[in-house]
Amino acid sequence: MEKTFVETDLNVQKEIQELRSLIRDIPDFPKPGIIFKDITPLLHKAWAIQKIVDFIGNRYIGAGIDIVAGIESRGFILASALAYKIGAGLAIIRKPGKLPYKTVSATYTLEYGEDKIEVHEDAIQKGMKVVLIDDVLATGGTMGAAIDLVEKLGGKIVSIDFLLELTFLGGREKIEKGKYPIFSLIKF
Ligand code: AMP
Repeated sequence: MEKTFVETDLNVQKEIQELRSLIRDIPDFPKPGIIFKDITPLLHKAWAIQKIVDFIGNRYIGAGIDIVAGIESRGFILASALAYKIGAGLAIIRKPGKLPYKTVSATYTLEYGEDKIEVHEDAIQKGMKVVLIDDVLATGGTMGAAIDLVEKLGGKIVSIDFLLELTFLGGREKIEKGKYPIFSLIKF
């Protein structure tokens, strides 16, 4: 996807800096050594939610996106608002055992061990245009597995979007594979 006004407009960049300043660092949460990026101060502000959804969603005007796929759980907050904004359906990618119908699943490696995510097998039809979204791109493991799920169902990934990216963790390089555009609104 070509660069849009979101990436090039200086006024938009200023507003993105304001959004960035609202993200709260919580040291040693949920484990010692992790600095958790708390996005709730952003969610508490009406103007911030509107800006986030507009900046991400305006990039899809006329793109004919069929489905926004959000990853549990903070990804759902963004995915549902984005789906409404761009007139797409919503697919929910969840942790194991939460979805009631037949699922497909994908595993990914964590620092210690493995984890799994699932989606209903009828959530995405072959050839549908899909936008994947989550709140944070950290190591990229979760999104890598979400990409596998969409590919298994035959969805066409148009973009992989994040509210914020922790660039020093190299998640982008891990999921990039040169295949799909990756967009993050706020970078640390
Ligand atoms: P990863 O698979 O490492 O890219 O981690 C992504 C998932 O973990 C996202 O769904 C985030 O919600 C969460 N996450 C990872 N690191 C952080 C962090 N430092 N602050 C907030 N959320 C995080």
